[in-house]
Amino acid sequence: MMSDHYVKVKVQLEQMKSFGKEDAEKNEEEEEEEGVDAEKQTSMSSPPPALVSPDPPSITTADRDASNTSITCKHRGGKSRGGKNSSGKHNITDLALHGSGKKSNRLGGHERTLHIRGTGKILQGKSENNGNYVTIHPSKNIQETCREDVFKHARKRRPVTVDTAKAKTSLEALKLSIKQLKWKEFPLGRRAPCDIYWHGVSFHDNENIASGQVNKFPGMIEMLRKINMSRAVRTMQELFPDEYDFYPRSWILPEEYQQFATQIRMVKENDATVNPTFIVKPDSGSQGDGIYLIRDPSDLKLMGGSQAKQSVVQEYIHKPLLIDKLKFDIRLYVLLKSMEPLEIYIAKEGLTRFCTEPYQEPSQKNLSHVFMHLTNYSLNVHSCNFVHSDSQSTGSKRTLSSVLYRLAAKGVDIKKVWSDIIALVIKTIIAVVPELRVYYQADIPPGKPGPTCFQILGFDILLMKNLKPVLLEVNSNPSMRIEHEQEVAPGVFEYVPSPVDEEVKVGVIRDTLRLMDPFSRKSSISQPKAGGFEHREEIPMEAETQEKSPDDGALPSLCLKQVYPKYTKQFNHLRLVERIAALFIRFLGVKGNMRLGPTAFRTFIRTCKLSNSNFTMASVDILYIDITRRWSGAMPDSREAGMGLQAFVEAFFHLAGRRFKVLTMREQVVSLVELCEAQLEAPSSVEDRRSVSCSRALPRTNRTQTLGLANPQLDSPAPTRRAASQDYRLHQRLKPRTLRANVEN
Ligand code: ADP
Repeated sequence: MMSDHYVKVKVQLEQMKSFGKEDAEKNEEEEEEEGVDAEKQTSMSSPPPALVSPDPPSITTADRDASNTSITCKHRGGKSRGGKNSSGKHNITDLALHGSGKKSNRLGGHERTLHIRGTGKILQGKSENNGNYVTIHPSKNIQETCREDVFKHARKRRPVTVDTAKAKTSLEALKLSIKQLKWKEFPLGRRAPCDIYWHGVSFHDNENIASGQVNKFPGMIEMLRKINMSRAVRTMQELFPDEYDFYPRSWILPEEYQQFATQIRMVKENDATVNPTFIVKPDSGSQGDGIYLIRDPSDLKLMGGSQAKQSVVQEYIHKPLLIDKLKFDIRLYVLLKSMEPLEIYIAKEGLTRFCTEPYQEPSQKNLSHVFMHLTNYSLNVHSCNFVHSDSQSTGSKRTLSSVLYRLAAKGVDIKKVWSDIIALVIKTIIAVVPELRVYYQADIPPGKPGPTCFQILGFDILLMKNLKPVLLEVNSNPSMRIEHEQEVAPGVFEYVPSPVDEEVKVGVIRDTLRLMDPFSRKSSISQPKAGGFEHREEIPMEAETQEKSPDDGALPSLCLKQVYPKYTKQFNHLRLVERIAALFIRFLGVKGNMRLGPTAFRTFIRTCKLSNSNFTMASVDILYIDITRRWSGAMPDSREAGMGLQAFVEAFFHLAGRRFKVLTMREQVVSLVELCEAQLEAPSSVEDRRSVSCSRALPRTNRTQTLGLANPQLDSPAPTRRAASQDYRLHQRLKPRTLRANVEN
């Protein structure tokens, strides 16, 4: 037993050591060879992920007594940088966890230091392993060469200007970042335009920005609210049930109360021993506000004063992974660098937030123990058990790498965990992008001068006991505070620096700025002008050269890692709703509009030739009225009349079902999208010519790669397809209300 464990830990560290060699500029053949070795060895533990081979957080361990700390110094243009091996597979190249085992002791463990690449900082942790590996320290000469390089590339252009007037709580971390970059800050704003505007809350914090870049997308706050998020993921679950199983089953209240109550009753009737727990979250709540656990639908607090409370009730994940007997969650920072083309970066370092009361599976007795069930920092900080620690691997808030390091030492296949997390992030963004596009074109219509956008998102992820990551929520405004409130004397609170937060957050902001640097952005991946939805035929598969810009100077290598378009192949087929959104936007017509009127819907049907003797224009009108009315009931606070994107998607699914009856749900939708796109491309249609004049050009979003044939699941054997369509029917039952019979069938 012990020796098995020992072998596993050794294998993990061996693999990590091999990744670390990237820093020593090893060539591609070497990488492949080592990959083979590692594979042979891992067969003893769990197999490596098949889907993606992402780059986990960069961790380098070095012996504490090593005289020099591990400095990562890369020569630009190095061949192996996060690249592919000769077999065309992406290697996990940025994980470097290695150290000398001189003092190591399997039973006792020993102190190690972790170097977090991209931050220039060292952290200490205890390891239980006994690996005998040598840290790769660049020689003094290499370090000096790097510095010389820096001076050679001394900046010859004006500094990038950043308007920080609206940065709010991000200000401290932002200031530090700007200082490290030697950029110019405008704390009170500036009359002349700045290159970058940093907003603390929303795109609209500054109005009338006509150029530059803003760190918020219009509509992101709305899209990431709990209800909208659940709807967006649910749409994807209908199309790709297996791919979107990382989000707990959810019901939207009050409108789905009946479905929720009925389903729970049926589950309990079927098996009396089953007693599931649910978590109720107010729609626009944050920081754990208003959240509570229930075991029976009758415990729902449906009313907030005289109004029905808008909230989401969700399956409670009752078997989370525990560390030190405590539940914890992961806060991962993700940069949506651009929406068109889609570019996503993930921070290699994140935070973990720990509960402050040992975890027990939910029971009627402990349902109200927030310190046991909710990981929110803002709640747990008030517990007397909360541990503020200057160390990044202890206390109630720790770095993600310290947790992964600990799991790796216990034999966990952290490559697989990280790979699953990356997949979860990409899929989630793919789910919200369609509606974000609608918001984007409404705020910055094509042709109108405006800024381009980027945004740092905070993903909250829970690891289940079986190590599967589960998405809890995505924050559009993740806290970028680098200090925390502390009770310095009884009743006296003060803000004191938080080294863990500073470590992670300054790196994320600084490197986001570096990636957005208007002077070093490569033209090949530049974003089209605001509102532009031109399709670029070729999405660059690698943007590795971006990871260090010529003006980066002595800065550490980037702590943000590109995951999309890097992993386009694995995820592109999921971008199906985006194509429906592109059709929707095309027919919106009037600038700034977010809803389709009845005439525009008719135009869409005519242009795409979807009506016939069985589906007359009168039926089209009924379909429009029926769906639109239902959705306006589901979204009572929406002031605009007409058909929003979510309603349009429902109508589209319905049309697809009518048209391609024998196919599976997804095949139906793919076929209808293709049909519409083909009709819109045909230049002969009168309607088409008319609609083109008042609408946007249809982005031909990655069409060929998204088609059914490229999608392995569409080629799946009949039983799988049947299962998928059954799954769809199940989800259909969860929809607000099924389509009424007055729609012609
Ligand atoms: P908020 O925006 O208020 O923080 P979250 O969705 O992040 O809302 O939930 C708050 C906390 O509740 C999470 O940090 C997590 O600890 C816990 N939690 C949320 N959803 C679930 C779930 N489905 N299963 C288990 N725990 C959950």
